[in-house]
Amino acid sequence: MRIGAHLREDTDPLGMAAELGIDLFQMFVTDPQSWKKPAPNPRAQEFRESAIDVVVHSSYSINVASLNNRLRMPSRKAVEQQAEAAADLGAFGLVVHGGHLRDGEDRMAGFVNWHKLFERQVDKGGFGVPILIENTAGGDHAMARTLESIDRLWSEVGEFEQAGFCLDTCHAWAGGEDLIGLVERVKAITGRIDLVHLNNSRDEFDSRRDRHANLESGRIDAAVLAEVARTADAPIILETPTEDIPADLTYLRDRL
Ligand SMILES: [Zn+2]
Repeated sequence: MRIGAHLREDTDPLGMAAELGIDLFQMFVTDPQSWKKPAPNPRAQEFRESAIDVVVHSSYSINVASLNNRLRMPSRKAVEQQAEAAADLGAFGLVVHGGHLRDGEDRMAGFVNWHKLFERQVDKGGFGVPILIENTAGGDHAMARTLESIDRLWSEVGEFEQAGFCLDTCHAWAGGEDLIGLVERVKAITGRIDLVHLNNSRDEFDSRRDRHANLESGRIDAAVLAEVARTADAPIILETPTEDIPADLTYLRDRL
């Protein structure tokens, strides 16, 4: 099993990954709060040649489901650009949040926008890397919070080989999905889990809040998290508070 963590892109993630002894890491390729196009990474060749795998997390402003053209269009462009930057690093995927709509908007149109994201890219030869759609914690109009919404989303994107799934355990818990048996229920819908974000939650079940905690210090039974990691058959990324990542790694390695 491959285990890693989200690391800061503005330090030396490759060096840090080697220091932690992890198999892979996740990073941003641009300021996650901005729409800035990623700059070429001067160390790209080192990343590509390293035995340590990379996955890229896209910026937070992206919402490809949005019915608002002024949000959806830059979102599509940002996904394309960040997938390109991810490919340059030899990454195996780009994580993109499911996104959400606003009050009163037609959810079906949001799912169709996800379909269009992939459909439009087919003519351009696809994205630089697969797009790993991540479940999110909050919102009544989210595209990928509950299994019911993931099911509808997958009816729209399931036909595209480049549509993958990233399961975040904190988001699932806070979004009101029981973690016991969740891997099987997700796979029954998507047929795949490409990445796990293994995080505990500072908040209670179905709280709709997105506050990550270290594996043994949140509201979720750490043994349940280890069981998700064990059964998912996918690489694991910890997005937990940095100071205790070594302790999280030790816990996981002992349990798996
Ligand atoms: Zn996550």
